[in-house]
Amino acid sequence: MAKQSQHAANLVVVIAMATVITVSACVVTGVTRVSAESPAAEEGSASPEVLGDSAKSDAKPADSKKDDTDPASASDFKKELFAGKVVFAQEALAKRGIKVAAEMKSQAVLETESGELLPIAADWRGRAFYQDKRLRNRKVELVGYRRPGLPYLQVLVIFVIDEEGRRQEMDYWCEICSIPMYEIKACECCQAEIDFRLRPGKLPAYLTPPQKTDEPSQKPALPGGKPAE
Ligand SMILES: [Zn+2]
Repeated sequence: MAKQSQHAANLVVVIAMATVITVSACVVTGVTRVSAESPAAEEGSASPEVLGDSAKSDAKPADSKKDDTDPASASDFKKELFAGKVVFAQEALAKRGIKVAAEMKSQAVLETESGELLPIAADWRGRAFYQDKRLRNRKVELVGYRRPGLPYLQVLVIFVIDEEGRRQEMDYWCEICSIPMYEIKACECCQAEIDFRLRPGKLPAYLTPPQKTDEPSQKPALPGGKPAE
């Protein structure tokens, strides 16, 4: 009897220790996430160029490679070009005969040219698709990536294709401070209203083009500027 209760007591100690270890591991992970991911996002919003492969390697602690659950940053994933238009999931699913409730009404998804639906993460760059209807229901090309095991498209650069078929890089711009931003808000510097800005854009050099055609969507098929229905 006494032996058994001693055993039970030991077990309690072991469980208690395991709990302490688990809790401290969570805390450490949480801290790492805050310190490693937030600056990454801020860095990213400073300029899309920072998102090149060399970016942020010095922002990580030297021993972070050991931990596979360590939050990874954009530079750890293969960037690709995703073309299509962004719509809300509820209507996109309805077109496919799938009726879903209002909870999915405001989930933005990229409907690719092949008809695939990719949910867009409302992160520092993807959030604009939720906020701004000017970005939805129009032809876009998104530089972004997906993490293994996750359906979400994480967008890094937004190009909209204008009526002439030209690729325009999109951001928000404060005329007063001359700084770009990536979501709708008051200017983070002077608090003024910011403008929706489009500039002729080129695909980033780090991107491997999906197909090797020499004339990517430069001109619509129809001459005379008639929009294709
Ligand atoms: Zn400003």
